[in-house]
Amino acid sequence: MSSNRVVEGRMVTAKSLAEQLEGEDIMDAEPIKDADRDCPDCGGNVLTVGYMPSALSFVTGYKCQDCPWQERDND
Ligand SMILES: [Zn+2]
Repeated sequence: MSSNRVVEGRMVTAKSLAEQLEGEDIMDAEPIKDADRDCPDCGGNVLTVGYMPSALSFVTGYKCQDCPWQERDND
């Protein structure tokens, strides 16, 4: 199953989206899913991806498909 999605007009994988959210390389990412929410800035569709920046941490990231809005939750 491909988890590639289009974000701001660019094709991203779970890993590349997670690295964009984190701002640096990450270890591993789960498949991209649709978040059950709309973008607070533009009302666009929000994607979510869970990823591990390091072996000891897990982050849930959110990214709008249509604008630069993004958010991270550390578990
Ligand atoms: Zn947006």
